[in-house]
Amino acid sequence: MDLAEFSAKYPIVKDLAAEKETFWLNPDYGKKEDVGLTQADLFDASARFDRFAPYMVAAFPETAASKGILESPLHKLDAMKAEITGREHYDFPGDLYLKADNELPISGSIKSRGGIYEVLKIAEKIAIDKHMLVYRDDYSKLNEPEFHDLFSHYGIAVGSTGNLGLSIGIVAAKLGFNTTVHMSMDAKQWKKDTLRSKGVNVVEYDGSFTEAITTGRKLAAQDPSVFFIDDEGSKDLFLGYGVAAIRLQKQLRDMNIPVDEDHPLFVYLPAGVGGSPGGTTFGLKTIFGDNVHAVFAEPTHVPSVVLGMATGLNAKISVYDIGLDGLTEADGLAVGRPSRLAGKVMKTLLFGIGTFDDSRVMEYTAEMMDTQDIKLEPSATAGFAALRQAQPYLAKQYNVQNATHIVWATGGMLVPESEHQRNYKIGKQLLDQQK
Ligand SMILES: *Cc1c(COP(=O)(O)O)cnc(C)c1O
Repeated sequence: MDLAEFSAKYPIVKDLAAEKETFWLNPDYGKKEDVGLTQADLFDASARFDRFAPYMVAAFPETAASKGILESPLHKLDAMKAEITGREHYDFPGDLYLKADNELPISGSIKSRGGIYEVLKIAEKIAIDKHMLVYRDDYSKLNEPEFHDLFSHYGIAVGSTGNLGLSIGIVAAKLGFNTTVHMSMDAKQWKKDTLRSKGVNVVEYDGSFTEAITTGRKLAAQDPSVFFIDDEGSKDLFLGYGVAAIRLQKQLRDMNIPVDEDHPLFVYLPAGVGGSPGGTTFGLKTIFGDNVHAVFAEPTHVPSVVLGMATGLNAKISVYDIGLDGLTEADGLAVGRPSRLAGKVMKTLLFGIGTFDDSRVMEYTAEMMDTQDIKLEPSATAGFAALRQAQPYLAKQYNVQNATHIVWATGGMLVPESEHQRNYKIGKQLLDQQK
């Protein structure tokens, strides 16, 4: 089908192909359908993280303060709310918060949830199959040399734009696995350097994430001792991300933030393949039901999840098929084809998706430093773009007067200072041009 025919059939494709900022409202939102994952799946993942907490403390001492649970704080963003609503000329009732996954231990990104979860699940299964571990053991023993020896007979491989490779690479190498990360051209040099310094085998590609993951998957399939963690379709990644919701429920209660019909929760998440925002949204809908509504944000040059969902073709279509270049400053979102799972699980659970011009995330990155003294990577600020776009649609359908808004900040802690300064300068220049 050529682009003109395709656009006639799916009007939104015309805007997407033209790199125009647009908002897609999900027509299937709220319908009752089996999404293929259950509450039991989510609680199983949560229990596994808990079993591994003693291992985390033993292997990663920086997690001792949180007793081996990898979790991030919720920050109120009054100054940022005043700044962006003033500059972008809009307003919304309710409080704005940041879910600071940029502060998550180990990878400094949301990938510490899904990526690390899947590595732990693989390690647990091997150790139990070899009769070296039972579920009631103190898992700190997995940090002992005999387990390092055991895992050294196995490989873990993954394709990544950067952060997934970081989280998986660091934990898999620590456990003793032969670890290979296939990195796309978007991956930042410092992420490759960090991984190599931890003994991870980094394979670099001149091509896109799609090429890196496809080749990585093929190579791993040739060796039965290698586990390939598949960002384009792994349920375990999804569930690892989803556990965030169970933790957030307690965080909100402890901060006296109600979530009910009169106090809806709106969550804004950046999407690459759709795994981290999809898994998180699945978790949130499981915990908060009809009182939570999630919106994704994607770059205008890489609107992979919205293209897949709006056309119903999901992973069968990529942004390259409609003539886009797939290039963005938001390197964590530089993924041209959505995961096979995201569109399927999100079909009835996702409110909508907004696309943003790269300039916006550079501006938000600078504004977060100026107003809140918080350093994020550009990808991690995409939620602010979706927040602005979604307000008229949300206000039409929900009781927004006492709403809580959470922009999910997906990464930043490990970004080198020179990179932060570069991003800040670009953002500041763009902001100055608007004055
Ligand atoms: C990976 C990543 C995302 C998006 O996650 P997907 O699972 O690819 O949708 C968003 N922000 C950052 C910083 C990331 O590293």
